[in-house]
Order: sequence, then C-alpha cells, then structure tokens
Amino acid sequence: MSCAIVWFRRDLRLTDQPALHAALQTCEKVIPLYIHAPEEEAPWLPGGASRWWLHHSLANLDRHLHDLSSRLIIARGPSLQTLQSLIRKHRVSHLYWNRLYDPSLIARDSAIKKQLSAEGLHCESFNAALLFEPWDIRNKSDQPFRVFTPFWRHYLTQLSLIAPPIAAPKTLPSLPKGLHSLSLSALELLPRIAWDSGLAAHWTPGEDSALRLLDRCRQAIIEDYAEARDRPDLAGTSRLSPHLHFGEISPRQILHALRSANAQASAFAADSGTETFLRQLGWREFAHHLIYHYPHTDQSPLSPKFAQYPWAWGAQQPAELQAWTNGRTGIPIVDAGLRELWHSGWMHNRVRMIVASLLTKNLGIHWLEGARWFWDTLVDADLANNTLGWQWTAGCGADAAPFFRIFNPIRQGERFDPQGDYVRRWVPELAQLPAAHIHAPWLANKALLKTAGITLGEHYPWPIVDLKASREQALLNWNEIK
Ligand code: FAD
Repeated sequence: MSCAIVWFRRDLRLTDQPALHAALQTCEKVIPLYIHAPEEEAPWLPGGASRWWLHHSLANLDRHLHDLSSRLIIARGPSLQTLQSLIRKHRVSHLYWNRLYDPSLIARDSAIKKQLSAEGLHCESFNAALLFEPWDIRNKSDQPFRVFTPFWRHYLTQLSLIAPPIAAPKTLPSLPKGLHSLSLSALELLPRIAWDSGLAAHWTPGEDSALRLLDRCRQAIIEDYAEARDRPDLAGTSRLSPHLHFGEISPRQILHALRSANAQASAFAADSGTETFLRQLGWREFAHHLIYHYPHTDQSPLSPKFAQYPWAWGAQQPAELQAWTNGRTGIPIVDAGLRELWHSGWMHNRVRMIVASLLTKNLGIHWLEGARWFWDTLVDADLANNTLGWQWTAGCGADAAPFFRIFNPIRQGERFDPQGDYVRRWVPELAQLPAAHIHAPWLANKALLKTAGITLGEHYPWPIVDLKASREQALLNWNEIK
C-alpha cells in the first residue's frame, strides 16, 4: 500500500493545500507531519509571539484533521533524520511539501530533496504561499525587478493565469498503525511566564479564523480600504498578516474571493478599495521576490552604499533603544505603536513606518536592531516582509523611500490620527489632552498640561530626541555616503 508524508510547515490549512492534494491523488495512506526544528531557521529563530501563534495554529490544524479521521503527527528535528526514520518505519514512498523562501530554509529543503531523492523517494514541492514563483517573474532584461511599480504592473498582466484555489478534502485516509506523535505541549511553544493574555485577547489563530477575517474584509473593509488603510485609529485593514504568514490562508484564496466580488481581475478599478488591497498583497509578493533573489538582505542593505552609513548598534545607545522598545520615547504616536505591538503582537502599517523612521533616522540606530525587536514581538513576523519594511523605511532597500524623506511623527500623527484616538487608546496617560496637542505634548502650555493631569518627566517622558536637529544630522550622514 503506497504511503505519503505531507510535511506541514507554514501552510497550516486544508483548503488550497497543493501538497496534501498531491498526496491524496497518489497514495492510499497519508501521514500529516509537523517537525519542530527551529534551529534550522537560524539566524532568525521564531520569536516569542510567533511561537505563541504556532502553538495555537498547530492545535487548530490537528482539530481539523481529527474531523476528517486523521491527526497531526508531531516530531522534533533535525528534519532530515526525522523524515528518514519515518520513511523507513512506515514504508513511505512519497514526500510532499509546500515551498518556503527564507534563505536558510531554501538551503535546508534543497539538501533534503537531494538526499531523499537519491535514496529513491519521490519528493515533490509546490507553491502554496505566493501568487507566482519568484523565478518566474523577470523584467524585459531578464533580471529580477527591483522597483515595485513595474513589478506590480507586470503582475497585473499575469493575474488572469492564476487558477482557482483547491477545495479542502472531505475525508482523509486513516494513518498507518504504530505512528508515534509528541504532544503539542512537549514543544514548549507557549511562554512559561504568562505574558500572552494580550495576544489571546486580540487574535484567534487558525484556518477558520482566517476565513472569517477574509469574509469580514470583503463585507466591511474593502470598500473604504483605499482611504481607511492609513488610519491607525480606525479598523481599516484586514489583519490577515499572521494568517498569511503561517499559511492558514493562501493569497490565491484571497484573490479568488476578490475576483468573485468583481467578476474579472481586469475589472478591479484603479485606486478602488479592491485594487489598493490587492496591491498590498503585491508588496508581500515583491518582498518574497527580493528575499529569494537577494538572500543576503536579511542581514545587509540591498543598496550597498548604506554599508557605510554610521548607524549605531543598540549597545552604543542602550537608553534610546530601551525607551523605543518600551514605548517611552516621549513622542506619542511612536509610543502608541510600540505599546500596541507589545500588548497585541501587531502594529498598524503606517505606525510601523513612523516608529522605524524614528529609530533609524532620528535616533540613528541600525535597522537590524528594530527588525529584531519586531521579529520577537510581532505575531506576523515574516522575514521577507520585515526585511523589506525596515529597509524601505531606512531608505537602504529596493525601491526604498528616498533617505531624505524623514517622517515627522507630529505631522504623521495629526494627519493619520486626527482626533488622537489611537494615542489615547495606547497611551492612556495622555487621554485628557485635546486633539490639537496630543501629538506634541511638550509644545502645550503648562496650564493645559496641568488640566490634563500631566507633568512631563513624571507622568509622561520629555521627547528623547530633538526631531529637527536629529533630522539634520541624518541628512548630513547621508550626504557623506550618497
Ligand atoms: P492589510 O492592509 O490588510 O494588507 C493585506 C496583506 O497585504 C497583509 O496581511 C500583508 O500580508 C500584505 N501587506 C500589506 N502591506 C504590506 C507591506 N508594506 N509589505 C509587505 N506586505 C504587505 N508585514 C508582515 O506580514 N510581517 C512583518 O514582519 C512585517 N514587518 C514590517 C516592518 C516594517 C518596518 C514595516 C514598515 C512594515 C512591515 N510589514 C510586515 C508590512 C505591513 O505593515 C503588514 O503586513 C500589515 O500592517 C499587516 O496588517 P494587515 O494584515 O491588516 O494588512
């Protein structure tokens, strides 16, 4: 009797699951397997918030497999040896998985495929995370795109080629006898000291929750998305990012859902909510395209001249870095974002750009320090998207914001949080300040601060950096390297 392993990784779903689909087409027995091997992801081992999400997502997948008379087999790495042992014991003939694009995982998966194919196993991998493979998208000079707009224009011409998603199986074959699985708790993914109540209050990991969010997005978000997506005080974005990262939903499912509301890809009106939303998925594709073609960028800027930029490391500016991570910089929109991140494991995209700009340009701290903090605290921490986001904001990546575009956090706050509601929510000590002063309390007069119950330096910090002087210094530094 033929037997396949479906090696689940960051594709924790049953719908639009090409690896599972292939196994069901070819083999009579199917082993759904998860191997825990975080050390194989070095140097970007999953952070605390990601581990929390993974625990709950694996539990959810196991429940779905149970509903179809199967279950998730959980093992520890090293991945190759674990696979070899299962293959021998259960006479496995086929191994299927869906591809990942982090440089360390590409190297690992290629070595595993080579070794197991040489041992006579049928090994096959699929694209389940992207609309197109990075190697299939090239510009007219047959080079990878490095600028988003032409990349996206090219994508738009290809979207009609994308097939509809694969339906979830209605039933699964039983497992071979004698299979051993670790318990999920043995992986120790949840924190020992319970700091995760904020994550649980904001998120429900798993495929069903992803599908519910997609539905909500179609019904309540998409129409106003083009305007509301930049407003952290509104619930104007999908919050699908962690679900996409863990593969609880595929971009193909999202595209299909948008298409069924719009009949044809070509019917997405320019600048409509749907087109703008799809373009954000395009940024996600672009980020994966870049990390695949330029695998060194998880450590070094894509733009080589920035290797000379005199960024400080955290050890050189520990007080500033700590104030930033703790949300105690004295700049309200920045503190609101960093506190939102610490409490909920997520931060609004506009605010991610504002806090990243302050760290890398005003405080002059290396973008990798910020990327590492995000890596540990974001539930959607994703190597491709995080690298692109940090390098874009720091001005040192592909298609980056020009370096001289240094966000003014006061103007950003006034424009995108006009009533100050976002700041009030996450920085409650400023809640009594009127909107006109909430984004720069140090400019308010003493009487107003007193009425609002604030003494600067006591209830809320003075700004840790002079925004104007630090901006000028950053521009001088840039002039030296450009
Ligand atoms: P929506 O606005 O609803 O967008 C839909 C989807 O499109 C998102 O779920 C996401 O998958 C994708 N997307 C949206 N914006 C971007 C973008 N700028 N780049 C790439 N993909 C995008 N995103 C992550 O998923 N993981 C990260 O680790 C990450 N780190 C970032 C770091 C910085 C400094 C910055 C500026 C951005 C980062 N982003 C990251 C991108 C973006 O902030 C998040 O994807 C977005 O806020 C997620 O919220 P949402 O799902 O409601 O987005």
